[in-house]
Amino acid sequence: NTFAEIDLGEALNLNIRRCKYVKPTPVQRHAIPISLAGRDLMACAQTGSGKTAAFCFPIISGIMCGQIAQRPRGARTVHPLALILSPTRELSCQIHEEARKFSYQTGVRVVVAYGGAPINQQLRELERGVDILVATPGRLVDLLERARVSLQMIRYLALDEADRMLDMGFEPQIRKIVEQMDMPPPGSRQTMLFSATFPKEIQRLASDFLANYIFLAV
Ligand code: AMP
Repeated sequence: NTFAEIDLGEALNLNIRRCKYVKPTPVQRHAIPISLAGRDLMACAQTGSGKTAAFCFPIISGIMCGQIAQRPRGARTVHPLALILSPTRELSCQIHEEARKFSYQTGVRVVVAYGGAPINQQLRELERGVDILVATPGRLVDLLERARVSLQMIRYLALDEADRMLDMGFEPQIRKIVEQMDMPPPGSRQTMLFSATFPKEIQRLASDFLANYIFLAV
């Protein structure tokens, strides 16, 4: 049971070794094969369980293996292929930092956008191009309203600490964000929902956003 046994691709496996990860944690051992198989996932996972890698590895691997669709250019609107939503600036920055290590020398570009900080620097980062956008819900709605980000090409959506996002009152923003993803043919967008707890509200999000999903509790 090592990462080398999971088919994540050469470059990503090298980065995993660089991070000194040898053995997958339980959530990684179960979630990664489910996601690589293309299934939607609702996972019960706590901070410290290794959930960041559990959603980052399939996203990075998928972007590297996939046919990178021709994305519209110009007009200052960027079209990321993957979106990772998280409740706070701190968590978004942590995810961004880890995702950048995992995608080192893969050509996959990761950008972070969060509220409570000037938007201009983030706009400049976005303009250089983005494959994976890590964002807090409020700042992303702002970017969508400014037409600086389009979600029409999103192939992977990960919601991290979904229960915390709802506790913080982000449900309207999250719904607005997901509504902007192009109505996909069934199965064309892959969604991963991570939450420490599973109250009714989270189950409702799961049934609204996920298709034929696998429930994982570790
Ligand atoms: P997370 O739950 O994603 O915040 O991860 C918690 C910590 O565990 C982070 O510092 C990760 O870098 C580390 N970590 C995650 N997966 C592994 C692994 N398979 N082997 C060793 N460390 C890991």
